[in-house]
Amino acid sequence: MTSPESTWSRRSVLVVDDSALQRQHVARLCMALGVGQVVEAAHGLAALEQLSLLDAPPDLLIIALEMPAMDGIELVEALQLRGVRSPVVLLSSRDDALIDSVQSLGHGVKRGLRKPLARDDLRDVLRECLAAPQAGAESGRGRPPSSICAQVLEQAILTRQIVPHFQPKIDTNTGILRGVEALARWHDPERGTVPPDEFIAVAERESLIHALTLSVVDQSFAQCALWQSRGMRLTMAVNISPELLTRPDLVAEVCALQQQHGLDPSQITLEITESTAVESQGAAHAVLVRFRLKGFGLSIDDYGTGFSSMQQLSRIPFTELKIDRSFVHGAHRRRSLRVILESALDMARRLNLATVAEGVETLEDWRLLQSFGCTSAQGWFIAKAMPGSALPAWNKGHGARLPELRLPRR
Ligand code: C2E
Ligand code: CA
Ligand code: CA
Repeated sequence: MTSPESTWSRRSVLVVDDSALQRQHVARLCMALGVGQVVEAAHGLAALEQLSLLDAPPDLLIIALEMPAMDGIELVEALQLRGVRSPVVLLSSRDDALIDSVQSLGHGVKRGLRKPLARDDLRDVLRECLAAPQAGAESGRGRPPSSICAQVLEQAILTRQIVPHFQPKIDTNTGILRGVEALARWHDPERGTVPPDEFIAVAERESLIHALTLSVVDQSFAQCALWQSRGMRLTMAVNISPELLTRPDLVAEVCALQQQHGLDPSQITLEITESTAVESQGAAHAVLVRFRLKGFGLSIDDYGTGFSSMQQLSRIPFTELKIDRSFVHGAHRRRSLRVILESALDMARRLNLATVAEGVETLEDWRLLQSFGCTSAQGWFIAKAMPGSALPAWNKGHGARLPELRLPRR
């Protein structure tokens, strides 16, 4: 992965803390990591004043949670009222549970971190928060929903400008590639590569999701069959939108493509989000049961975000629990995430479900998943989604990482 640090020289951070020692420590770390402009304020009102003097809001705000007069939360609320939308990190020396809980505050609060701020934590935060384009330089993720019109999208589906890329799914014990997840990408000659967050919702709204999904499934199965003919037998996971579950013909359509490409149904997993799964009733429920009867795998995607009970989920014959990345990323250093992750994995094991962790970005989180007995994992630590033609070469290079990835012997 290319290092983003070289681009931080044009980025700005505002540090707000009444303790001069802590404030200067954070400011020095920011500068040492290459942030171009660091502004300091000793209390909330001074911060608001500084902000009114700046040409553009800072790219990141690092604020002490406890301060006399205006505390960190009051300041965050005041910033909201003034329309400042920069990401915020809150610092505190209180207990981990309290620090973790600030992440649920919303209002742009990305992280709660322990004082004194550690260099590695700051680097992670800068990578996460400064990865997005600078204000006024919008492109890719984070840009406002674009105005994609139905005819253009339909044309893109028909002409196969929408193609699947494939993210490796890795065995957590051995590091070996077991399968992939197909993720749709739109290669638009004018806009460049448009991410799915921008067009899936439009496709769902404009009744194009059926055509889009069948096209992605067809291309993904064809790719899987091609790899197989070259000696790479992999599993293939595809995403299924809730709208599709109300179509009784979906099972026959997917089965026809699976047979046409000579794949075994056990190689294929259909990913359905947790909220869709819980809400499925009647015809939608029947579609899921029929897929299982045909031998396809069923995965609960984004597990942990739907607030479902196990009783609700046990109605549906799932084979896999896919844990949302919000419980995986950073779990090695956040106790509350670790506890949720471990208990979800424990529960899945008892129910005989395979487990997939998504969003693994670091070796530390990878090791944690190994120690918790998670079956497989996906994430940028292993690889981003790539075109199908690139996967064999990627896998060859990946072989060199297997000694590092293997479960360490005790
Ligand atoms: P998802 O199913 O939860 O897919 C995982 C998303 O997380 C992908 O984003 C993937 O690129 C991203 N990701 C993977 N590893 C990491 C990591 O380590 N860190 C971080 N921060 N992100 C990671 P992508 O490709 O932008 O897809 C977004 C969503 O769009 C998908 O979320 C899925 O819900 C939807 N989607 C994608 N393709 C299709 C499709 O063919 N049909 C339908 N219905 N939905 C799709
Ligand atoms: Ca998915
Ligand atoms: Ca997911």
